[in-house]
Amino acid sequence: MTTIEHWIGGSFTSGAATRRAPVYNPATGAQQHEVVLAESADVDAAVAAARTAFESWSQASLSARTKIMFDFRELVNANVKPLAELVSDEHGKVLSDAAGEVQRGLEVIEFACGIPQLLKGEYSDQASTGVDVFSFREPLGVCAGITPFNFPVMVPMWMYPVAIACGNTFVLKPSERDPSASNYIADLWRQAGLPDGVFNVVHGDKAAVDALLQHPDVAAVSFVGSTPIARYIHRQASATGKRVQALGGAKNHAVILPDADLEFAANHLAAAAFGSAGERCMAISAAVAVGAAGDPLADILTRKASEVVVGSGRDPKSEMGPVVTAAARDRIEGLIGTGEQQGAKLLADGRGLKVPGFSDGFFVGPTVIDQVRTSMDVYTEEIFGPVLSVVRSDTVEAAIDLINANPYGNGTAIFTSSGEAARRFQRGVRVGMIGINVPIPVPMAYYSFGGWKDSLFGDKHIHGPEGVSFYTRGKVVTSRWPHVEAAHGASMHFPTAS
Ligand code: NAD
Repeated sequence: MTTIEHWIGGSFTSGAATRRAPVYNPATGAQQHEVVLAESADVDAAVAAARTAFESWSQASLSARTKIMFDFRELVNANVKPLAELVSDEHGKVLSDAAGEVQRGLEVIEFACGIPQLLKGEYSDQASTGVDVFSFREPLGVCAGITPFNFPVMVPMWMYPVAIACGNTFVLKPSERDPSASNYIADLWRQAGLPDGVFNVVHGDKAAVDALLQHPDVAAVSFVGSTPIARYIHRQASATGKRVQALGGAKNHAVILPDADLEFAANHLAAAAFGSAGERCMAISAAVAVGAAGDPLADILTRKASEVVVGSGRDPKSEMGPVVTAAARDRIEGLIGTGEQQGAKLLADGRGLKVPGFSDGFFVGPTVIDQVRTSMDVYTEEIFGPVLSVVRSDTVEAAIDLINANPYGNGTAIFTSSGEAARRFQRGVRVGMIGINVPIPVPMAYYSFGGWKDSLFGDKHIHGPEGVSFYTRGKVVTSRWPHVEAAHGASMHFPTAS
């Protein structure tokens, strides 16, 4: 069993940590590593290293930073397989899915390789007679990232490529449940030539997070995780004067109209609900079947659920792996039971699934629950497991109202062959990311990712143009170079253009 240590100032260290947490292989149920849990002294050391590195990194030329970004991109691209294996072994997701998350992270690195273009300012020649006005943006300083277990490579990559390319230094506090990929990434940054201290990893739990939130030298905090913690992070970081973006949980609805190709819709819904065992913030967890779509859709979904091949993430035949911990499995199974007790109809029941050869793994099978009402726990809770609720609705307007009444607003989708209905939907829903016949509408890296309502606290979405804006601060310069012979007169009234 190996001990996973912090990466601070260019070396691995256990620092002041006396506490350790187990890291499991969810497929076997066995502990495979332990990870050190930071105390505030470790956070102090990481922030100090990042602050020192900021002095020179913030002054590095755009071309020097860009070269490192390109080299890092090449290294990540060459290491997709080992990264995917690390993710699969600690998270549980299947290898192809893990490789997919590395790929989506790579796209953010590629976006950040264009930083010279992204940081171009504006220039107004002769704004007033003899006066020019121009703007540029500067990095903030030490930025912190606090990330969830469900995308141990991709979600941190929503943050640090953009932050670092903009000239900031970074302290990452990844999930303690699957920490290894972050250390692997740290070594790739080293190989790319990133100076020591620009990228640091501190492993830990609430103690590490609270130390980052309180630290006076942390300028900005990016958080992705569950809604109660996102709300807490936003409040605490704002109270200590930091810039903060805190992305929270989700309950993503897909609306299926009777004019949709139901086989196509059910295929995509099954992939979006059961892929990665439902542990995606953009997973579809509620299918809102409109009118006559309901019964046939429920039948097809039930068949699809039974066809999903569940097994170890390392088995190439597996389409869906285990959930992350035994506690997650027990909670999901408990919620399925509650759904039945509260009157919903269990069409496919994934409880008690045993995978041959993996009897101690944390498996839950694909589950479909029909006739779900908005008052039921399976609807109000973010289950974060392979459970798809079918809610019935009479009209598309009622479906839109139902989505808008939900406290979350991360992603949503509509399946239809009507452009008119799709347009009504895209304009009517109060949700940040919308798919039209696309179940998981994760924006490309050159757009920004973010939900509305309880799915995001703060006003900047992550990566893309809003990411550049989040990690920089603007300056506007008004400049005049008077001729020596020019009049030196100045008026007392407020300056106006002439
Ligand atoms: P989580 O909120 O439990 O943990 C996220 C991070 O916060 C981890 O680094 C964890 O160590 C830390 N943390 C946990 N409890 C804390 C506390 N009391 N005080 C301070 N820090 C604490 O989330 P998770 O279980 O790791 O991930 C799943 C959640 O993340 C789901 O709710 C999912 O929807 C959400 N998520 C959202 C997005 C998005 O883009 N909106 C993306 C991925 C995941």
